[in-house]
Amino acid sequence: MKKLTKETEIVHGIHTTHSTSRDLVPPIHMTSTFKFKDSDHGAEIFQGTSQGYVYTRISNPTVDLLQEKMAVLEEGESAIATSSGMSAIASVSMALAKPGHNFVACSTVYGGTFAFFNKHLRDLNIEPRFIHPSSHGSKAQVERLVDNQTKFLYMETPANPTLDVIDIEMWASVAKTHGVPLIVDNTFASSYLQRPLKLGAEIVVHSATKYLSGHGDIVGGIIVGTEKMTDYIKEEYIMHYGPAISPFNAWLILRGIKTLALRMEKHSDNALKVAQWLEAHPKVTEVHYPGLNTHPDHHIAKKQMKKFGGMVAFEVKGGLEAGKKVMDNVELCILAVSLGDCETLIQHPASMTHSTYTKEERAKAGITDGLIRLSLGIEDADDIIRDLENALSL
Ligand SMILES: *Cc1c(COP(=O)(O)O)cnc(C)c1O
Repeated sequence: MKKLTKETEIVHGIHTTHSTSRDLVPPIHMTSTFKFKDSDHGAEIFQGTSQGYVYTRISNPTVDLLQEKMAVLEEGESAIATSSGMSAIASVSMALAKPGHNFVACSTVYGGTFAFFNKHLRDLNIEPRFIHPSSHGSKAQVERLVDNQTKFLYMETPANPTLDVIDIEMWASVAKTHGVPLIVDNTFASSYLQRPLKLGAEIVVHSATKYLSGHGDIVGGIIVGTEKMTDYIKEEYIMHYGPAISPFNAWLILRGIKTLALRMEKHSDNALKVAQWLEAHPKVTEVHYPGLNTHPDHHIAKKQMKKFGGMVAFEVKGGLEAGKKVMDNVELCILAVSLGDCETLIQHPASMTHSTYTKEERAKAGITDGLIRLSLGIEDADDIIRDLENALSL
């Protein structure tokens, strides 16, 4: 058959089923261990002369289906599903960098990622070299931080929570020149709107908790790359640190992925409409949305994304105090962290998701105290606008 479109691949996309009972939806293999036929069979599997499942920390048929699906969606060779987005990020970075090494990362990233890089990797004598928003668009500035102990480059685009967009192709060219992998956290865009591996990145990571699962009911993570790379990460980290995902969670992510295209279209349309409305509101001083013509990185977003995603950040006149009033007075929007759910969520990065940064670090990363982050759901955009209008009028 002719190559499938992305929309069709999201629904079908993999041909394997591990079931013999012709289910439309594959069963959940909730088992920790797998029976051997006899002692020789067990020994052969351990030696690698026979293929087969042994133990769910190492591999599981339901988890395999999710991994195959994610490799197809990201156009990579192979994927690893993990217990959370953070465990995916920790696994990749600790597999690639060892004490004495360094890496170059954008300073505007998920708060947990920042804390992991800045505290835990530093404690292991692995040095993060952060690049601030004013310089991440400059090839020379990125290049300046790379030396022969640099083991990877790392970015999030669009970035959490400022919605900065970073040029994947440009960073990938720096990575190639220096023979190191570029890792892209693709959580905000999802595999439907952006495919970093096609743009030269070597590894994609996701918090599957967000758009991939899409229903706010699980925590999970994904790593995608070449087979050589994922085999290396498994051997070097996954097998013995053990960040395995539950087969039940893997199954829920697979179920969520079926509607990814529909959801991302609606999230993106809602976000654009709400961002345009916010931009025109007299009490709103700033709106950050890559789909707006006024966004400084709009041209990069247009080049590397299919649509602009469901995340919007904004500031209101009166800064933090005024922003708190909005968050405390919305009725439809839900005051909660996380993102990518069907419900619209609203939160305050400086005191919540990005409180892992000091005030100075936040300032350098462009995360102002007044910034409010919205994750647009799939409700009717006019209802969301009415809710925000009411909260802003109080
Ligand atoms: C939530 C998030 C993470 C962390 O993922 P968890 O599943 O919560 O561990 C990493 N990166 C981004 C961009 C996120 O939004």
